[in-house]
Amino acid sequence: MTPTAPAASAPESIYLDHAAATPLLPEVAAAMAEVRAAGFANPSSPHAAGRRARRLLEDARERILDLVGADLGPGAGLVFTSGATEANRLGILGQAVESRGRILGSARDHSSCRAAGGELVARGWERVDVPLRADGTLALPRDAEDETAGDLLSAALVCGQSGIREDASALAAWAAARPGRRVHVDATQAVLAGAPHGPGPFGLPPTAATTLTLAPHKFGGPRGIGGLVVRRGVAFAALVPAAQEAGLRGGTEAVDLAVGFARALEATLAARAEVASRVASLRDRLEARLVAAAGVAGIDAVVIGGNAPRAPHIATVAFAGLDRQALVMAADLEGVWCATGTACASGSSEPAPALVAMGLPDSHVAGAVRFSLGRDTTAAHVDAAAERLGRVLARMARRAGG
Ligand code: PLP
Repeated sequence: MTPTAPAASAPESIYLDHAAATPLLPEVAAAMAEVRAAGFANPSSPHAAGRRARRLLEDARERILDLVGADLGPGAGLVFTSGATEANRLGILGQAVESRGRILGSARDHSSCRAAGGELVARGWERVDVPLRADGTLALPRDAEDETAGDLLSAALVCGQSGIREDASALAAWAAARPGRRVHVDATQAVLAGAPHGPGPFGLPPTAATTLTLAPHKFGGPRGIGGLVVRRGVAFAALVPAAQEAGLRGGTEAVDLAVGFARALEATLAARAEVASRVASLRDRLEARLVAAAGVAGIDAVVIGGNAPRAPHIATVAFAGLDRQALVMAADLEGVWCATGTACASGSSEPAPALVAMGLPDSHVAGAVRFSLGRDTTAAHVDAAAERLGRVLARMARRAGG
């Protein structure tokens, strides 16, 4: 589903859910169509058509690693998966090769990471819940003596709920002070976020992460593929063992999707500085207008993580006293498509764990709505969305006031 073409005024529908899925970039669609026509063969087939498909697949892998491999040091590998959920699962369970250990994770993790941690607990691992600071970043345990050499930390570089970024250099310092610890980084929402330190696009010094998750449908690429980047030398086991993907993930590889993944990553990183700054200023404009509109309606509205370092594309605004699900449904009726939070939890009536763990008041958690922007979002979209949401807020406030 794509937004209507940018219009000078009042676009028909306004898509503000890019953290859930982004429209396919035209050059990505074209590259994939070419592969479907000419490179459709099974890359494991020994004939010339199979060898051509293999070349396309390995070329896509190499291009992705050229772009992001520096974040995990020299010689990193890439395992293609079905998306970020599977890559997170593979990153956490694949590294947990021991029968016992400690899995450190937090409420800012995506549910796929928390579920993988839960499986380790069922196997006898100990779970350590890393608390969040009030600014939504990890309060990593300080006391190295109290820790175990085999610890595995799961960390979202950008929280899918709030857009708050983790400090990559703090993560690296934590890992560097604790040799032997492994760190799985979920970078699914981080591709637009920019890199203040480090040689790779995520700003991770090579000592920080042992595995890293990516999913191109969050940045103009296809759905149905993701990737796990694995640092060289990390002990690792497959979840679906078979011959493909160097024995690390069975199943015939989707060559067209892999090519689309590489193309989307290239296009996004090439335009990142410009897109990130434009999207961040549109996000700020949207937040300011929503807070003002809420004020007019007599609603206290707060931008979650407003003073914290954040990815440019996510604005989570808490409308105190309102019900987030009712607000998202009312917005939908006005042609504004937003979300209560990560898509996997959006139908859930449970409050978002990441917001609860930040210590926000219940009324803010209950009324928190996520608006996420993309490279196709325009000022006209933002202004029209704020105007329509202003009407929704006024109506909801009147109803709440009886
Ligand atoms: N990790 C984060 C931070 C996410 O935001 C999401 C989806 O929104 C995922 C993982 C899961 O992605 P996928 O839908 O590709 O499985």
